[in-house]
Amino acid sequence: MDVELVTIGDELLLGLTIDTNSAHFARVAADAGIQVVRRTAVGDEADAIAAVVDEALARTGAVITSGGLGPTADDLTKPALAALFGRAMRFDPTIWEALCARWKARGWPGELPESNRAQAMIPEGATVLANAHGSAPGIWLEDVEGRWVAMLPGVPREFRGMVRDVVLPRLLARGAGGTVIRSRTLRTQGVAESALADVLGALAKEPLGVPLAFMPGWEGVDLRLTVRGLAPEEADLRLEAAAAALRERAGRWIYGEGDADVAALVLDALRAGGMRIAVAESCTGGMLGTRLTAIPGSSDAFVGGVIAYDNAVKVRELGVREETLDATGAVSEETAREMASGVRARFAVDVGVSITGVAGPDGGTPEKPVGTFCVAVDVRGAVRSLRTAGVGDRHEVRQRATQAALSLVRRAIT
Ligand code: ATP
Ligand code: MG
Repeated sequence: MDVELVTIGDELLLGLTIDTNSAHFARVAADAGIQVVRRTAVGDEADAIAAVVDEALARTGAVITSGGLGPTADDLTKPALAALFGRAMRFDPTIWEALCARWKARGWPGELPESNRAQAMIPEGATVLANAHGSAPGIWLEDVEGRWVAMLPGVPREFRGMVRDVVLPRLLARGAGGTVIRSRTLRTQGVAESALADVLGALAKEPLGVPLAFMPGWEGVDLRLTVRGLAPEEADLRLEAAAAALRERAGRWIYGEGDADVAALVLDALRAGGMRIAVAESCTGGMLGTRLTAIPGSSDAFVGGVIAYDNAVKVRELGVREETLDATGAVSEETAREMASGVRARFAVDVGVSITGVAGPDGGTPEKPVGTFCVAVDVRGAVRSLRTAGVGDRHEVRQRATQAALSLVRRAIT
């Protein structure tokens, strides 16, 4: 089943409110095979609301709106759509009584304000959708050809509650369900999006007929597979086959699925090997320690570290040699390697990991532009390192460097 979403409110167009309702609906509807094929945002203006819903009805005949059901003058969804369907507005005494009862039950002073009468006005022939989470009920309007619009409140808690309690059950009763839209995400690190596409070759577009999306970010490039309109078992089989094909080609960069976190994988591997780790950080100033200690139970394997920002600290606390700093600079694989070995020795642990880099915005040189970072790991005397050029602003470079260091540790110990 295809539906369109129309979100209503000036605050959405002004960028003051982020449209979380649409994202929520798309996620929960996917498992009933309901596909959101288009989303439109529109301001609090009756003609504009009617126009976008009219276009959406012409395309799919199935529209969900969010917002503009309240009691104030900027809440225009119901009259605008009543006019579109050619229906008059009528006063609904049942809704009015429920609103009055709710007012009294809450112990609010006086009588329900007259302006709430707008909430008891509904289009002729509409179905009232109960709202157990707020005062304004939802409205279902349908024409003789079976084209429908479900009007829901904008308040996210009410919107979500009504989708779950009322809208999804109605759509399932109308024949949604049976099929699903399902995604599976493989997470890669240490490879550029374009290089990954080259390695995947013909698989880069639709591995085994399953559409694939590349989603680059500071954690790496995520590969998202999505199937639509299949029975759940069939969907899972197709995803499994496509994921296996991707793993075969790109397995060496894939570290996990879904919301897998390299820091958690590192800690699991350390625990499994009975190892402990210490960190030496320059440009990340503690982010590596933060990532590791964010995982519950990290004290099993994480002992601590040194923030060696100043070169003097690299020398004094980590035993980095002055000659190395003079010859190769603070941002070099050589310095990173000595930092990793130094912190491992000082903390008497199995694994030392280090980061040194140019986070920017200043301090870049032609040989070492902003974004250059070096990471190293020493596992019981076996040292590995890499140098790379991260993109992005200062924060992003630091995040990328942290992720690269964790990934290097994971590869070194698994
Ligand atoms: P009420 O009966 O409370 O007036 P309403 O249906 O009229 O509800 P709005 O007035 O449009 O809804 O919005 C109520 C609140 O919900 C506002 O704070 C608004 O920022 C927020 N909101 C509206 N639309 C969305 C959306 N699509 N995603 C997230 N929040 C939203
Ligand atoms: Mg509004």
